[in-house]
Amino acid sequence: MKELWVFNEPGHPVVSELLAKGRALADQAGLKLCLVSVDGSEFPSDHGVEALRQLVNEREPEIFLFGATAAGKTLAPALAARLGTGLTADCTALEIEPATGILDMIRPAYGGQVLATVRCEKHRPQMATVRPGVFQSAPADFETITVHPLDSRIPQRMEKLQALEKPEDSDLHGASWIITGGRGMGAPENFQCLEELAAVLGGAVGASKAVVDIGWKRVEHQIGLSGKNVAPVVYIACGVSGAIQHWEGIKNADIIVAINSDPAAPIFDYADYGLVGDLFEVVPELIRQLKQR
Ligand code: FAD
Repeated sequence: MKELWVFNEPGHPVVSELLAKGRALADQAGLKLCLVSVDGSEFPSDHGVEALRQLVNEREPEIFLFGATAAGKTLAPALAARLGTGLTADCTALEIEPATGILDMIRPAYGGQVLATVRCEKHRPQMATVRPGVFQSAPADFETITVHPLDSRIPQRMEKLQALEKPEDSDLHGASWIITGGRGMGAPENFQCLEELAAVLGGAVGASKAVVDIGWKRVEHQIGLSGKNVAPVVYIACGVSGAIQHWEGIKNADIIVAINSDPAAPIFDYADYGLVGDLFEVVPELIRQLKQR
């Protein structure tokens, strides 16, 4: 039986998201789902890439999926180049074409204005990286494969120079409530009221790209096409106009609530609930009423 592989990055939530999606794709295409780990090596390394190359040549998987994480984005292109196959980066959807079993790898193009479907018909494996938060996690049956990279004959060309302290993360992945501020927040100190609302609801605070570009919030908070994909139960956008690139990151939210003073703001086209008003009046009132409960 041919196989569909998911690359294992221990402890990263994207792995269970890819396994859930991989399970559905494997069932559709009649493939065996496997989680592939590289034993004992720090990623990415030349030895790890070489070990995976040898394993791919041995078992000839049909599909190989990676998270679009720092490790996945370094490892997957290096592996694809060594295998002479293609790689579609930053996919936001994956589908099997029923007639052929070929993987349709779908990703935004031209700044998110169109969705491109990329296919790798002539080479194997069909490889893709997928951004964290695009697919929902779910329990899935799979087989595990572990490779041991130590006996590789390839010289190690990558060298670790320094480990930098990871900046404080934003807890956006996995949050049930996300409250996001856009340029309508007016100033960085005004995010205090969103922090307060997030604390009352037990949620996390996000930001639009405009806010990150001005320097009001760090990039870890950015949601959208060039930021994070999130899938909360409730997403509350405050002073966010709702550009298509922003929507790209929140389309998996169950409920979208928009607070904006401009009734013509594009976010009202797709919000489930819309509040036309000044966020500096609406948000404090919301906090007051929630606290009363
Ligand atoms: P604005 O568009 O300036 O909107 C501010 C909103 O606040 C307005 O609608 C206004 O009516 C409202 N407002 C003002 N004052 C108040 C008030 N007191 N009360 C209530 N409402 C008020 N954007 C992202 O967000 N994430 C991305 O990842 C991303 N990636 C991109 C990638 C590419 C390749 C490109 C080209 C663009 C990308 N963008 C992204 C940018 C995107 O196109 C928009 O420019 C950006 O989302 C706008 O941010 P904003 O809504 O905060 O600001």
